[in-house]
Amino acid sequence: GPGDVHAEVVVLGSGPGGYTAAFRAADLGKKTVLIEKFDRLGGVCLNVGCIPSKALLHVAKVITEAEEMGAHGISFSKPGIDLDELRAFKDSVVGKLTGGLDGLSKGRKVQVVRGYGKFSGPNMIEVQGDDGVTTVSFDQCIIAAGSEPVALPFIPHDDPRVIDSTGALELADIPGRMLVLGGGIIGLEMACVYDALGSKITVVELMDQIIPGADKDIVKPLMTRIKGRYENIFLKTKVTAVEALDEGMKVTFEDDKGESFSDTFDKVLVAVGRKPNGKLIDADKAGVAVDDRGFIAVDKQQRTGVPHIFAIGDVVGQPMLAHKAVHEGKVAAEVCAGHKRFFDAQLIPSVAYTDPEVAWCGVTENDAKAKGIKYEKGVFPWAASGKSLSNGRSEGITKLLFNPDDDRIIGACIVGTNAGDLISEAALAIEMGADAVDLGHTIHPHPTLSETVNFAAEMFEGTITDLM
Ligand code: FAD
Repeated sequence: GPGDVHAEVVVLGSGPGGYTAAFRAADLGKKTVLIEKFDRLGGVCLNVGCIPSKALLHVAKVITEAEEMGAHGISFSKPGIDLDELRAFKDSVVGKLTGGLDGLSKGRKVQVVRGYGKFSGPNMIEVQGDDGVTTVSFDQCIIAAGSEPVALPFIPHDDPRVIDSTGALELADIPGRMLVLGGGIIGLEMACVYDALGSKITVVELMDQIIPGADKDIVKPLMTRIKGRYENIFLKTKVTAVEALDEGMKVTFEDDKGESFSDTFDKVLVAVGRKPNGKLIDADKAGVAVDDRGFIAVDKQQRTGVPHIFAIGDVVGQPMLAHKAVHEGKVAAEVCAGHKRFFDAQLIPSVAYTDPEVAWCGVTENDAKAKGIKYEKGVFPWAASGKSLSNGRSEGITKLLFNPDDDRIIGACIVGTNAGDLISEAALAIEMGADAVDLGHTIHPHPTLSETVNFAAEMFEGTITDLM
């Protein structure tokens, strides 16, 4: 057709993986086309993921901090909540970032083709847009099609009282009682927001701990805090039925002893995981293999089984995180431009931006035990941190794992205020092969939460004699 284009590099999907790859490829001189089905660039992360959730979590933090100031002699009245203005704040944050991407694309002459793209051959994608089909022929392709929330077959997802994370971020109302189905990062972050806004929260999780991938010890302070705030937290419990009644959504649970019970909620937030979009792009027409779950296997250069087609981000596997997608996007684009790049990161940090935050990277104690990795640890409880106590909080923990043979740091997990920011120091230390002395002898500013990393290293070395 008249609008048909040829790309040296075409990127399918404009999430953090896709836009990063497209910009990098363009910067390296490639004629680049970026295909996106949504009006706005930025994918899940910017539109319905990381960014809007963090804008709301910030608001939640301010509300709960104000509430808790009562204990220090400062009291505020109950907050007035204007949902329209709150939604507008969240949308303005998203709008600034997605609008910024439009500008960055133009600046680099990345051509954005709007519509739904599917392969029609090994060097061709057909994009179904509002006004017809655009054919994009390409030399090299980077698939960055991302993922979608998993829906459960026995749940009436067509009822407006059943929502996923995207629905929760729309902030249609503040339900009286809300069930969060799934105690992973996304479910718990949304629980944190709605709890602060005034909903009564119940969380149900199949495994024996919330955030199942995280270290057992660091999850405890979060568990203790939310137990005190939420109506119920059911662990080792599954939902077996959800029924739409006039008075609410009637949910039937079954615990690990096989006992059933039920309760009725105003809203049910389903946050049981995300599934990759690999099956929705006719990858077979390009010869690219997609597994049963929809993941596309790639090598260390992000190459699929077809040498000129790459894949990155959520569609290639866990962990489904924006910073992983970004890093993979750079690798793929640089390989497309002929650079000898590999994905060789030692670790990918994970963070739950709950209150308190939970963050970890590298080897966890659970992994070490399961895989027989030798380790010793340095643990610093924040009850002895002047900064944390000054913040009115004492429940944090910084735990570092070391290789006992050479004292090098191999893993870290932190729970507490700003744990997500603090974990980066440990990530850098692991990438650089730092040992306990490096961390212990680096002077950290006092009083800060970052000192807890320094102190945990000193606990391992045995050079802290007095916890104050
Ligand atoms: P995506 O962001 O999923 O983008 C894929 C894009 O491709 C989409 O825009 C989609 O419309 C487009 N697309 C797909 N198929 C086609 C097609 N056939 N044609 C045209 N366009 C197509 N991660 C973090 O690291 N930190 C967080 O704090 C965080 N918070 C999150 C909170 C929530 C509520 C959710 C849901 C996710 C969160 N994530 C977070 C995960 C993060 O959003 C994803 O890991 C990240 O967006 C993956 O990026 P991606 O580039 O692989 O794909």
